Amino acid sequence: MPRLSRMYQRGYQFLCQHIVLILVTLLCLGLGIGLAGSYNLSVQLVESQAHQYASVTANTLNQTRVFYSENVAQKLMAVEGVTISPAYHGVPGGIPNPATFSIELGEQLSDRNQGSLVKLYSDYPFPNRADTGGPQDAFEQEALAYLRKNPLASFHRKEKVGDRIAFRYAEAVRMKPSCVECHNTLPASPKTDWQVGDVRGVIAITQPLDSILLIAQQGLRNIYAMLIIITVLAILGLSLVIGRFRLIHVELEGKVEARTAELNRLVHLDGLTQIANRRYFDQTLDEEWRRAVRNPQPLSLLMCDVDFFKQYNDTYGHQAGDDCLRAVAQALKGSVQRVGEMVARYGGEEFGIILPNIDSDNAVKLANLIRKRLAGFQIPHATSKVDSYVTISIGIATLVPVAGGSCEALVEGADRALYEAKERGRDRHAIWMPPSV
Ligand code: GH3
Ligand code: MG
Ligand code: MG
Repeated sequence: MPRLSRMYQRGYQFLCQHIVLILVTLLCLGLGIGLAGSYNLSVQLVESQAHQYASVTANTLNQTRVFYSENVAQKLMAVEGVTISPAYHGVPGGIPNPATFSIELGEQLSDRNQGSLVKLYSDYPFPNRADTGGPQDAFEQEALAYLRKNPLASFHRKEKVGDRIAFRYAEAVRMKPSCVECHNTLPASPKTDWQVGDVRGVIAITQPLDSILLIAQQGLRNIYAMLIIITVLAILGLSLVIGRFRLIHVELEGKVEARTAELNRLVHLDGLTQIANRRYFDQTLDEEWRRAVRNPQPLSLLMCDVDFFKQYNDTYGHQAGDDCLRAVAQALKGSVQRVGEMVARYGGEEFGIILPNIDSDNAVKLANLIRKRLAGFQIPHATSKVDSYVTISIGIATLVPVAGGSCEALVEGADRALYEAKERGRDRHAIWMPPSV
């Protein structure tokens, strides 16, 4: 689980750091896929258009042949002076038989200059078309073979014809009842055992694609250019927005850090005196105790209490009492300057001073210094029974912490010493000695 979350975190970090690169890559990928997709679509559209055109043309030619066979040729056969023949040109009263009619109609529909061909061919051409009537290339041969096996299907593909790309389409021409008799009896007929449904030949359509593809590609080129411009603009826009977001993020982070530091400071401060509060005092004493256990050295604690403070309040008012507490706090703080030492408001008019690595003698020296300093402040206290200025009593406790002990012992000791200092007349210090010392 932790490994997964580490991986997730790393992935998230990577994403944040390389967001612009990732977005650009994704956009380019999307653009590439879009371009390839639109190219394929355009080719498919062109091919399907050619397929449809070829299918309609083949069907029209087939229907025309059947119509001509049933409604024209068959009726005119009985008319005297009319000759129905593949070689009807130059024959008085001659008209084309249906196959010739279809072949020549196909030729009319073809546009050789444009490369489009509509053609009817067979592997049994009449003798007058022996050279041109059969399959002329691989496509025509394959189409004939395929359609003989699948007469109802169509055969088509895209291939190069000469130097042009073309769509080629073929459909079977099947023997109709109206055709069988003629084909089996005509003296020139190359095959005389036709049956209804036999594949008589093939209608083949060749539709060049290059000109249509050229138009489609021109259109695509315009779309590509537009898409590339849009993508570049999108990337520029995204980079600007992300850059701006990053700037805001850095600014916000700075503000949050400053605000957090300020909150931490406030959480640890006493509102009235602006020195460390009780909560911070407890936390620090516990930490110093543990540190001294790990690295044995003395830890001293001073408990200071303002003498006759109730009377001070009664004499000068609560507001003046608050000012007095602020002044006492400053006097204490001014005397305690070593790194790691802490002055805190323990509660009411009581202050605690934590002195790491300070033995009993040095703690006494500091207590005297503090009282001297406060005396120098000369805060009048008319109703004090020990002096005309504000004084404090100090309880001193020193221990070399050991594992299994608790800092509460130190607090209790300092409290007892403070009580003793008060008992002995106030405006002094007293020292608590641990039982084992
Ligand atoms: P002692 O010499 O024995 O310490 O006597 P004391 O009058 O100082 O002690 P006591 O515990 O009887 O009274 C403490 C007084 O401190 C009572 C209380 O109103 C006052 N006090 C506690 N906190 C504050 C404070 O934040 N502001 C002010 N102005 N007075 C406070
Ligand atoms: Mg008190
Ligand atoms: Mg007091």
